[in-house]
Amino acid sequence: MLRIYNTLSRKIENFKPQNPPLVTMYACGPTVYEYAHIGHMRRYVGDDILVRILEYNGFKVKEAMNITDVGHLTSDSDTGEDKMEKGARKFGLSVWEIAKKFEKQFFNSLDALNIQRPDILMHATDYIKEQIVFIQILEQKGYTYKIDDGIYFDTSKFPNYTKLSGQKAEDLKAGARIEMVKGKKHLTDFALWKFSPNLPAGGKKRQMEWASPWGVGFPGWHIECSAMAIKGLDTETLDIHTGGIDHIAIHHANEIAQSEAATGKQFVRYWVHHNFLHVDGNKMSKSAENIHTVEDVLRKGFDPLALRYLYLQTHYRQEMNFTWYSMGAAQIAYKRLIEEVAKLKNPKGEIPEFEKKFLEAINDDLNLPKALGLVWELIKSDYPDSAKAESLYKIDQVLGLDLEKSREKKKVLKIILPSEIQKLIEERNQLRKQGRFTQADYLRNKIKKLGYLIKDTKKGMEIEKI
Ligand code: AMP
Ligand code: ZN
Repeated sequence: MLRIYNTLSRKIENFKPQNPPLVTMYACGPTVYEYAHIGHMRRYVGDDILVRILEYNGFKVKEAMNITDVGHLTSDSDTGEDKMEKGARKFGLSVWEIAKKFEKQFFNSLDALNIQRPDILMHATDYIKEQIVFIQILEQKGYTYKIDDGIYFDTSKFPNYTKLSGQKAEDLKAGARIEMVKGKKHLTDFALWKFSPNLPAGGKKRQMEWASPWGVGFPGWHIECSAMAIKGLDTETLDIHTGGIDHIAIHHANEIAQSEAATGKQFVRYWVHHNFLHVDGNKMSKSAENIHTVEDVLRKGFDPLALRYLYLQTHYRQEMNFTWYSMGAAQIAYKRLIEEVAKLKNPKGEIPEFEKKFLEAINDDLNLPKALGLVWELIKSDYPDSAKAESLYKIDQVLGLDLEKSREKKKVLKIILPSEIQKLIEERNQLRKQGRFTQADYLRNKIKKLGYLIKDTKKGMEIEKI
């Protein structure tokens, strides 16, 4: 039985959907105002693995994802500018062009990483009417109030607003990720509809705005997910909802409050949250200049599926640290895996003991690091090659590492050395040319300590990862 950690109960639970084999799942999609980076992609590979594991267990997954192309403000507290309008200005394009440009880049990244597309893709701008109707229901039920800059949800009317994060209301205040908008009744209240600002003389009109019963403006960010999840999946109670851990305290708390206030039903049964990707031990941020995209990974010569392999090595609830060094090591490990698979015979006869262990690992809260370890155990085992191939191709439905295709296409990966190692090798070559072999040997040892073994053969130098 599949067991998975539910943020709502803070426990690992048996997974039982409402109407098996159907599983309804909603994923908060990207805000398409900037390049999607490898931090975002870690999350979407995580969702992809979840979908594949559900399917491997015989479930039929119906997955919906939104594309946020309006209404996501630069702060979580309904202040600041609409991210889309800001992005448009930065890139000198219209808001609609920005949305198209970055949606395309997002999907190119998904494709490169073998992430299956969601069944239902919903753009927030295509569902403005549904969002307005949703707000009207909340208004009729007495959950809303109007202030100068928009219509707000009154969180004091919703019992247990902090049930997802488990935070106390006082902690939220202390946490101060939310600022107090003037006129807001409670710190945690959030905008459902924002009015277009009155234009100062010579000011620029918003590019995206719509008429509503309350005045011209645009929807708040949170409302789109509730309106579209319920509409797209055709149910008021979803089996699974996913997102990054940063969504727990505000965005998902708000989704729960407005959905349950509107429908009177539990909104989501299992909340799944992915931990963050850091770079060289730091948060990814523009100011630190450590944001990398899938395109950057490709430009450096890596195989995108080596990045997927790298993601699988860390459990989704653990923080992951990306370095180009670990990327290089993942490329080598993935290269070796493909080479091992290339040596296998045609698939025939499975290995039930192995497949059972593999299933236990993935069903234990998606323990992919353990599952990868089992893959290497299998490769080193003395089971017949043809049976290994059969089992490996089967479990690759979950891993998504293109094992069968790589063999068919005779895919060859190159070793990409960290620049530090490359430099040492060049220095060593110089020393050897000059006949300074003792110093050259010293560098060779230094390189060995950094994890790479150099062998001088008749064909030239060969290098291996230790
Ligand atoms: P953004 O469009 O940058 O606000 O990011 C959208 C979502 O992607 C975030 O709310 C997170 O859930 C996820 N995300 C952003 N950065 C990272 C990261 N470094 N690691 C993992 N997930 C991330
Ligand atoms: Zn969302």
